[in-house]
Amino acid sequence: MLKYIYNRIFFVALTILVLLMDVYYEVPIWVYPIIYLAYISISFYGSYFIQSDFYVKAHWHGDRNKKAVALTFDDGPSKQHTDKVLEILHREKVKACFFVIGKNIQGNEELLMKMLEEEHIVGNHSYEHNFWFSMKSKESMIADTTRCNQLVFDIIGKQMNFFRPPYGVTNPWIGKVVRNAKFLCIGWSIRTYDTTAKSKDAVVRKALNGLNNGDIILLHDWAPFTIDALPEIIQGIRNRGFEILRVDELLNQQAYV
Ligand SMILES: [Zn+2]
Repeated sequence: MLKYIYNRIFFVALTILVLLMDVYYEVPIWVYPIIYLAYISISFYGSYFIQSDFYVKAHWHGDRNKKAVALTFDDGPSKQHTDKVLEILHREKVKACFFVIGKNIQGNEELLMKMLEEEHIVGNHSYEHNFWFSMKSKESMIADTTRCNQLVFDIIGKQMNFFRPPYGVTNPWIGKVVRNAKFLCIGWSIRTYDTTAKSKDAVVRKALNGLNNGDIILLHDWAPFTIDALPEIIQGIRNRGFEILRVDELLNQQAYV
């Protein structure tokens, strides 16, 4: 957690050191852009890889000694897709976590209720799921995530504790939002790339290749091949001897406060 602060301190100190050296020795001018580029690259890595815990501590896997994994579904609820996902999970007796988008809940309240009735859990995936979410001010991020939590609370009477940032992107402000709201930031260890996959088999392959104890698998309700791939993913997980737990059970954390 807060690794970005150490990163910043290191690069500020390095720049000062090089500036001081420049007083006594001729430091080539290209050294400065190299330092800046290294700083930007590390910050970029921290933003786009939630597993780096760079700006915020993310829970992205469970116990590596226990043969269990969890399924998570982002971006719902969706009228056309979520019902089918729920149907498969019900048939296969699998409980999952849905990271819901606030604006998608309106008009789909019954799907949210169904998730709860069927013992799935829900997490906050922001209200707008705006592409520029990570560029917003801390205040508008707080307003956005609070709106999503409130909407869910009004329907199911529970305050969500789990938060997954849109696109998994983090930065110092998102770190503050998570800490202010006391959210648990939930990442993933397996990205199926189901939103861009070209076939069902590609999604199945990504989900199962290198499956490890404690893995959290990222899927999307609406993605073109997710519904077709899901039964094979569940079967494949079980064939490999893994139990499928809900992410709160896998992490031993409370989904609601
Ligand atoms: Zn999303």
